[in-house]
Amino acid sequence: MSQRVALVGYPLRHSISPLFQQAAFDYCQLDVRYEAWEIEPKHLESLRSRLRHFSVLGANVTIPYKESILPLLDRLDDLAGQIGAVNTVVRRDGELLGYNTDAEGFLRSLRQDSGFEPEGKQVVLLGAGGAARAVAFALAKSRVKSLTIVNRTLERVQILVESLKSKVRSGQDVRIIALPWEENELGKALFHCDLLVNCTSIGMKHSPAEKQSPLEAEFIPQDALVYDLVYNPVETLLLKEARKAGAKTLGGLVMLVYQGAISFELWTGRKAPLDIMFRVAREALEG
Ligand code: NAP
Repeated sequence: MSQRVALVGYPLRHSISPLFQQAAFDYCQLDVRYEAWEIEPKHLESLRSRLRHFSVLGANVTIPYKESILPLLDRLDDLAGQIGAVNTVVRRDGELLGYNTDAEGFLRSLRQDSGFEPEGKQVVLLGAGGAARAVAFALAKSRVKSLTIVNRTLERVQILVESLKSKVRSGQDVRIIALPWEENELGKALFHCDLLVNCTSIGMKHSPAEKQSPLEAEFIPQDALVYDLVYNPVETLLLKEARKAGAKTLGGLVMLVYQGAISFELWTGRKAPLDIMFRVAREALEG
């Protein structure tokens, strides 16, 4: 019987993980099927027993379950526990272990693909969901000078900021601020920023905010790097606005493949075939 890895989320139409993960298993000649499990929120509880099946190696977790899956797991890796969000599950010795590979995937793409070193920089982050948790934690631990997090739902960003402050050790001098999504406040924060990261789903294909941008060019400083975690489409409206403003840009595809490669290595103990994963991901998105 083939082994299985599940992609858990709702909805899943936007995801290209099944394509590049399956290509990686096939390339490594591993008898593993990567399956999309689209699970409605009311059925999330059933996931625990499904993931415990002996044929299951593990799972990727995506919108909207990166935080709500935590109570279904037996143990969390240290990093996932600190972040408070899981995007990778490994079934090991009958237990479900939760990991977060988004944080490492994000930092790796930032450094390797943009040559951007976050230490000492001023960062504005949009969003306070599962992806924002991982990115904010990665940046705070990388000793940015300031981290301003802006979200539509103020309460959610306040909770995230409090949780970050409690985890960033005293002596590690990072200013972490929660802001409401309000033009004046946001404008002031953006004025001085070196890095702007979009961790909302605005602009994502098949989402309610498809073909929208969280910001227009006039708000984007020309010296900043604008990093859009949205990877479908490859060329989001935010990236177009950023280029109009003269800023440097990075899209979400590289992080997607890096976080997926780290997950692959956790499930299989094998080195991920990055070139294959990138080729298939690019073909899927660029057609
Ligand atoms: P999530 O937990 O559902 O969070 C979504 C976030 O977007 C929340 O902060 C939400 O604000 C905000 N948002 C959604 N629609 C909005 C709108 N119309 N106006 C203002 N804010 C809005 O999702 P997630 O897992 O964090 O993922 C977020 C995005 O990152 C998705 O597009 C996902 O595909 C992408 N992502 C990419 C990678 C990668 O490797 N490139 C990895 C992870 C995620 P509220 O709190 O107010 O609802």
